[in-house]
Amino acid sequence: MIVDGHIHIMGKDCVRDDFPGRLRAAGIDGGIVFSLPPDNFMAAAESPGSEERIDNLMVLCDGNDVLFPFFWIDPTAGDAESQVNRALNSGIRGFKVICDRFYPDDDKALRTFNVIAERGHPIMFHSGILWDGKVSSRYNQPINFEILLTVKNLRFSLAHIAWPWTDELIALYGKFQRAYQINPDVSCEMFIDTTPGTPAVYREEVFRKLFSSGYDVENRIFFGTDSLVEDYDVSWAAEWIERDEGILKSLSLSEGFTGKYFSGNVLDFING
Ligand SMILES: [Zn+2]
Repeated sequence: MIVDGHIHIMGKDCVRDDFPGRLRAAGIDGGIVFSLPPDNFMAAAESPGSEERIDNLMVLCDGNDVLFPFFWIDPTAGDAESQVNRALNSGIRGFKVICDRFYPDDDKALRTFNVIAERGHPIMFHSGILWDGKVSSRYNQPINFEILLTVKNLRFSLAHIAWPWTDELIALYGKFQRAYQINPDVSCEMFIDTTPGTPAVYREEVFRKLFSSGYDVENRIFFGTDSLVEDYDVSWAAEWIERDEGILKSLSLSEGFTGKYFSGNVLDFING
């Protein structure tokens, strides 16, 4: 089974009829789908309100038990807490956050992360260079997410192996692993979302470093493509699956790890 852990909706009037067929054509069984972005990411005039974005996503995922709807929230919005409640009441499984004009330790954002964690749902963060045409990448360096050590029971992932700050991401991951052992107050869980991001030429080196770091990476890493619902790129997805399978085969990993990487770990991430 393969679950694509990172799929976007980017068009308001999306033609989606092809989507399940395209997933199947790429050899993929299901995936995490993010809602349309909030207005901190789209021009405010273009972005529908949160209710409309939730409905738009639920129409796609409702009745399909291998499509997992994640609501893309601006955690600094004045009504962020009621957006979380509305999303969860509608059947949303988790949240997507891109820090494009605030650091993860922003007071309001942290309050929202705590609310989500208290409700037992995961958050997927962008990390690494951010291609949004603005001065925003600095908010997404892995070390800025160290603050999440203070959020009780949060499950979160950092996307794109934080490329180009992949070493920093591995170091942060190690810090979280160690924190569980030495600080009884730490109860958050960090996952690594390997969605490209990393240009192919870096991929093998990053994987080799990740898996030989000595940290327990095998249970908290998952695959994604960053493809779009409207135009799911079958050959791109199939290419990345093949590339990752090849790299994983060349590393000496536990038996059954490939299954965890392509579906088991992301299902653990979603379900807790
Ligand atoms: Zn993405």
